[in-house]
Amino acid sequence: MNECIFCKIVKKEIPADFLYEDDLVVAFKDIRPIAPVHVLVIPKRHIESVVDLKDSDEVLAGRLIITAKKIAQQLDIAASGYKLLFRVGEDGGQEAPHIHLHLLGGAKLSENIKPI
Ligand code: AMP
Ligand code: ZN
Repeated sequence: MNECIFCKIVKKEIPADFLYEDDLVVAFKDIRPIAPVHVLVIPKRHIESVVDLKDSDEVLAGRLIITAKKIAQQLDIAASGYKLLFRVGEDGGQEAPHIHLHLLGGAKLSENIKPI
């Protein structure tokens, strides 16, 4: 999927504020943060949504969470806590069509999830 903005970030075709990169995932700061810490952890491979994960993606799915946990430690929010969020599909409010795990923290965050 050539048009995917997150694939372009992975390929360094458009800039991002990177915090982490390994063989499977990259992490960078969200361009429109909704919390003092707002980082996105994404697979390097284009996968549209959690819906599209296969059983064989178990290691990749785990890497997304372990990476978010490590970044939270590096950014010193592990003790105070944080949220990890996957939006999935239309009802989930997903806008970017490439899996991304939101790491949100740096302040106490509200629980404002309700039907629209
Ligand atoms: P979602 O609504 O879960 O699909 O979240 C998409 C997220 O991607 C939003 O929080 C956007 O602010 C973020 N985003 C979109 N484009 C960029 C970009 N070029 N660099 C960093 N974050 C981005
Ligand atoms: Zn992509």
